[in-house]
Amino acid sequence: MSSLRFNAVEEAFKKKALEVSAPSKLTSDYYGKYVFNKATMAKYLSKDTMKALKNVTDKGATLDLSIADDVAAGMRMWAMELGATHYTHWFQPLTDGTAEKHDSFIDYEGAPGEAIIEDFSGKLLAQQEPDASSFPSGGIRSTFEARGYTAWDPSSPAFVVDDTLVIPTIFISYTGEALDLKAPLLKALNAVDKAATAVCQMFDPNVKKVVAYLGWEQEYFLVDEGLYATRPDLLLTGRTLMGHESAKNQQLEDHYFGSVPSRVAAYMKDIEFEAYKYGIPAKTRHNEVAPNQFELAPIYGECNLAVDQNLLMMSIMKRVARRHGFRLLLHEKPFAGINGSGKHNNWSLGTDTGVGLFTPGKTPEENLLFVTILTSTLMAVHKHNALLKASIMTAQNAHRLGANEAPPAIVSAFLGSQLTAILEKLENSTSEEAIIVGAKKKLSLGIAHIPEVFLDNTDRNRTSPFAFTGNRFEFRAVGSSANCSSAMTSLNAAVAAQLVEFKAEVDAKIAAGSTKEKAIFDVIKSYIKASKAIRFDGNGYSEEWKAEAAKRGLDCETSVPKIIEAYTSKSSIELFKSTGVLTEVELHARNEVKWETYVKKIQIEARVLGDLAINHIIPVATRYQSLLLDNVYKTKAVFSVEKADKICAMDLSLIEEIAEHTSIIKKNVEDMVVARKVANVIEHEKDKANAYHDNVLPYFDVIRYHIDKLELIVDDEMWTLPKYRELLFIR
Ligand code: ADP
Ligand code: MG
Repeated sequence: MSSLRFNAVEEAFKKKALEVSAPSKLTSDYYGKYVFNKATMAKYLSKDTMKALKNVTDKGATLDLSIADDVAAGMRMWAMELGATHYTHWFQPLTDGTAEKHDSFIDYEGAPGEAIIEDFSGKLLAQQEPDASSFPSGGIRSTFEARGYTAWDPSSPAFVVDDTLVIPTIFISYTGEALDLKAPLLKALNAVDKAATAVCQMFDPNVKKVVAYLGWEQEYFLVDEGLYATRPDLLLTGRTLMGHESAKNQQLEDHYFGSVPSRVAAYMKDIEFEAYKYGIPAKTRHNEVAPNQFELAPIYGECNLAVDQNLLMMSIMKRVARRHGFRLLLHEKPFAGINGSGKHNNWSLGTDTGVGLFTPGKTPEENLLFVTILTSTLMAVHKHNALLKASIMTAQNAHRLGANEAPPAIVSAFLGSQLTAILEKLENSTSEEAIIVGAKKKLSLGIAHIPEVFLDNTDRNRTSPFAFTGNRFEFRAVGSSANCSSAMTSLNAAVAAQLVEFKAEVDAKIAAGSTKEKAIFDVIKSYIKASKAIRFDGNGYSEEWKAEAAKRGLDCETSVPKIIEAYTSKSSIELFKSTGVLTEVELHARNEVKWETYVKKIQIEARVLGDLAINHIIPVATRYQSLLLDNVYKTKAVFSVEKADKICAMDLSLIEEIAEHTSIIKKNVEDMVVARKVANVIEHEKDKANAYHDNVLPYFDVIRYHIDKLELIVDDEMWTLPKYRELLFIR
């Protein structure tokens, strides 16, 4: 009998919900307590420093070191009052998650041996040189010249975790190339600000800044910690590599929006309290579609900050889960046969004058701006659909996309019937009838009054990877474990480039004698026509759509290593160059890292699968098989051969079945090892990644299939790995 599994099940059943209570009655009492936000800064910094810092964050002025000294002093004082003894530069390497190296505030007052004081200079705040040579750089930094440095991002506030002051930073090589995900994001946000501001100024000269917003919805699974510990595949890869579907899954849809189980409810409260301490406006919590799957979503915010908050939130969620005897699974597809986890990225643009650029307006001018931004976005998504797909694609997310639950591995945009009708009307109207020149030279495009219901009444197409939802687009293909930076960098850069083009086209028409309104109208109309292929309101899960998308020329590639190549296509290189977001060298380097990461992920999974098959599954199956054989033998000793054959008919057929499954498993594991060895000696990362995708990955399904069949045959008491029903329904 497998004691480990049954002990874990027993222990899991005994666990009770933790008592959790809010740090204070009113959330606003402790909201943002651990963040060095504007209100806190005002208490610790001089007026002059505040002003200078505002110039840096709002107007992009360069940071003066004397200001940095003042900020550092104030920051340290504040952090020490919260119990901080250390500080760290927090950065976002090209691998998953975040990285940090902690240093203490202590220093000698003078020469070594003199008194110890707490110190933190502006220099240390502004820049650090972590010995981060083992972070992937795609060859930009050779290890012997391992100088990369982190530089403070003043636009994202520092915060205190436990005893450490955490400073958000970018991570760049000594020669200036970005080695992280934050640096290019900041550049993309800057590009979209500039481009969109210029376009907005054609409508309203008061607009000085456009901000990109992000509201992420974080999906996750919780699994009891004891059960998790007895699944080597969960432990090492974050997903189950085997496991037969549970008889009951999500088919009754009783979990979705159902009442939250008590242990989980306590967990949800706890992570919200933590979120509030860090100024993360957690708003929504609910069960998700799959059993043991849940979601947390905050109120949207400025994109760069929202990305950092998501990264912080993911680490908080991981930490707090353990307090509750859970393990958090952020993998995109921890369990086969039920929904995986995504992280919808709700994205919009807004002006400093308070106008949401994806919000249909009340006046014709406002609506013209709305349609301008909308059609430019469609153009951008159309032109760069392959890149956008690459921006969300990983080994993990590949399991989720295209399965019958998440957007397919094809990027298309959903607008809903009303907006589609408006675009169609525009497309078919002539500029003469569209532009009604009245006394005030007002203009009507037949969209002056977008009905009020429009906002609340957007059809919800859950199958679309990029859906318009009333006042924003929802990029749904992003994976649950992803750093949103990748998707947000590509999207904002693509829209920035398109808006630059839009303005240039309009300006050219005006220079050629067109009125501004007509010029704008003509360009919009051409965009509606040119970007038509990206619009799809039908069922994205259907087979017909795949064929249709291919006909429309959309990118339909499904192999992860090949999808990644979109980053270095001619149009992507040009896009990133023209927006100043990434150079060609950086793009190539990043792809090297992506391929390398892909290889490592599949390699680890292949090893774990092989180990489990040979060390867990086959031995257990064989033991059960010999039990059956034993029974047959003994039966024959007692009964006549004829009678014994009859009695043992089922045993005999099971013995044969087991033998067949185990031999297929063994053969395929051996073949997979050979395929891996062949792949491992391939020199170029790209070729190696392709070999892993084409020649190693296909074994996973075959091996799994036969293991899952064995799970159904072998005595339950012997089976060592917790089953899906245990992992998914015990909480
Ligand atoms: P649903 O699950 O229906 O998509 P949620 O309420 O779970 O909706 O999440 C919607 C997310 O979109 C929230 O984070 C919300 O703050 C965000 N959001 C709402 N309006 C905007 C906007 N204009 N720009 C960006 N994000 C937005
Ligand atoms: Mg959503």
